[in-house]
Amino acid sequence: MTDIRSMTEEELEKELAAMGEKKFRAAQIFEWLHRHRAESFEQMSSLPAALRGRLAESFSLVTLRPVRILTSQTDGTKKFLFELPDGNVIESVWMRYRHGNSVCISSQVGCRMGCRFCASTLDGLVRGLTASEMLEQVYRIGSLTGERVDSIVVMGSGEPLDNYDALVRFIRLATNPKGQDISNRGITVSTCGLVPEIYRLADEGLGITLALSLHASDDETRRRLMPIARKYDLAEILAACKAYFHKTGRRISYEYSLVHGVNDTRKEAQALGRLLSGQNCHVNLIPVNPIKERDFTRSGREQIEAFQKTLEGCGINATIRREMGRDIDGACGQLRRSYLKKEAEERKTL
Ligand code: SAH
Repeated sequence: MTDIRSMTEEELEKELAAMGEKKFRAAQIFEWLHRHRAESFEQMSSLPAALRGRLAESFSLVTLRPVRILTSQTDGTKKFLFELPDGNVIESVWMRYRHGNSVCISSQVGCRMGCRFCASTLDGLVRGLTASEMLEQVYRIGSLTGERVDSIVVMGSGEPLDNYDALVRFIRLATNPKGQDISNRGITVSTCGLVPEIYRLADEGLGITLALSLHASDDETRRRLMPIARKYDLAEILAACKAYFHKTGRRISYEYSLVHGVNDTRKEAQALGRLLSGQNCHVNLIPVNPIKERDFTRSGREQIEAFQKTLEGCGINATIRREMGRDIDGACGQLRRSYLKKEAEERKTL
């Protein structure tokens, strides 16, 4: 059955015309799905009962079921574990900032990029999420918190550019003025650096922010941390990022996770400064969140601050990421993993 929440209003109009329904019904249904975040066809009270019945027979309506909600005692950050219609589980995060509320969503179940320090990729990729499953993370969190979602970061589990078509569809639906009307400037997509897709994204005319996971200032170190670096080298990635900036006018945000003894020395900060010199960009320093499956450790506070100072000395704008919700299961993919492990153990003892 066709997934109705992933459809554009034009696609809905076509489907409804084929069913012999009036065009204005498409606009009504679109609003129910995206503005009112409807969870059932039954709820669409402005539609005739017969039409609601026909919709239920012809379309599937994706809704996510919250299976766990954890609230941080220190900063109010909330982590959500959602069950998808096929039983897979994913995690999303809600954060409150001074400038508004932000939701961090997953783009895939698992991931196949294999970054060494990341928990999301340990069991590989299960599948990409549909546009409706990405939207539903935002919609359910909006309903459950009762607060407006101002910005979205696609920085949860998965590689968004490895799920390109669904991602772009999701962004167009999330920013639709007839839906949640989230500003394009409020959307950030984080990638490990899939070069052809960065060029493609620059041409979509979306005006969203691109965050690039750099994590190293030379190819050799980057290859140690990220297998994808064997496919695209830094020169190719930086050229794609520059093209993205020139096309969209949106400055790139580079992410750099500091791993003790791997990429955190002053020399490396200087090399990073040289690599990015002259670019209108921003560097986000992330103290690595250790995962128990790997023996990476985080750099000390002083080392992190020295790294930031060195970058700033090179004229690069750099901030240290404030950690949110550390008390509720740290890094991307850890909550999902601990949940799945517990489930498996419970099944064993049944
Ligand atoms: N696939 C996308 C988005 C995923 S994660 C990407 O690679 O950008 C978002 C960011 O968190 C990425 O920069 C990722 O490298 C980083 N990250 C993942 N696990 C981490 C960990 N354990 N500690 C610090 N940063 C981590």
